[in-house]
Amino acid sequence: MRQIGNNEELAQYIKWCSDHHKSVGFVPTMGALHPGHLSLVDIAANENDIVIVSIFVNPTQFNNAKDLEKYPRTLDKDAKLLTQTECNVIYTPSVSDVYPTSFIPRNADLGMLDTTLEGHYRPGHYVGVVSVVQRLFDLVQPQKAYFGRKDLQQVAVIKTMVKQFNYPIEIKVGETVREESGLALSSRNSLLTTTEKKEAVAISELLFEMREWSKVLDPLACETKAIKKFEETTMQLEYLSIIHPLTFENLIDEWVPGATVCIVAYCGEVRLIDNLELVPLT
Ligand code: AMP
Repeated sequence: MRQIGNNEELAQYIKWCSDHHKSVGFVPTMGALHPGHLSLVDIAANENDIVIVSIFVNPTQFNNAKDLEKYPRTLDKDAKLLTQTECNVIYTPSVSDVYPTSFIPRNADLGMLDTTLEGHYRPGHYVGVVSVVQRLFDLVQPQKAYFGRKDLQQVAVIKTMVKQFNYPIEIKVGETVREESGLALSSRNSLLTTTEKKEAVAISELLFEMREWSKVLDPLACETKAIKKFEETTMQLEYLSIIHPLTFENLIDEWVPGATVCIVAYCGEVRLIDNLELVPLT
């Protein structure tokens, strides 16, 4: 595995891949890698000749300076973990590599995605996500790019952007990897105390319980019951919403295939996000 830290070297490598007809699969990350990230690397390795993983903590997608400052950074450990995978290149650009003064990001029209759930609670977040992903796509020029279902709304945002900007890139989605307890793996979990980590399990427990409730309750009743139950935990709920998997509209009376519950809660100071499909897609 090779580490590339500047854009000239990356451009040469990408040219080599193109000249040698090597397909490139790309996994963008913010580092502090865990098995959830590595599962995307594995999928990418199965589907491409070359796998490039980027590690870049993108300042423009943080709408809270303290959150950016606290974000875990563990590059040496990440590099070690990636050597145990089929990753070919770890790309670690600097802020000026990603955002040279000449870079003018194009804005995508995200419609409702920019105003609901994450769009609502993290104003400007998706503008930052769109700008970093378009820049990384322009630099890496992959044939396929891999994202986790854990950030479901982000997947919808990226798919919208790819369509609007006509990127010839296939967006692939990996399932959420969980701890045995059910807690979704997240780089932010390392910021939890031992007690908080135990408390955080209540998030996924509730989601899986809702899957059972969805068989007998309508979406609104299911959502209301879940919000009430969450009050019994020590965590602070930011939102819990049952949505249509494509439009992200809140479901009220009727279930649709792929109906999904999305949740964000604060466990202590740590913002945790999760979601679960309640009704199978088929
Ligand atoms: P991040 O480093 O948090 O920006 O995440 C990089 C990619 O890994 C994103 O596409 C995430 O959705 C994905 N990811 C994060 N956590 C998980 C998880 N537990 N399971 C699968 N994918 C994940």
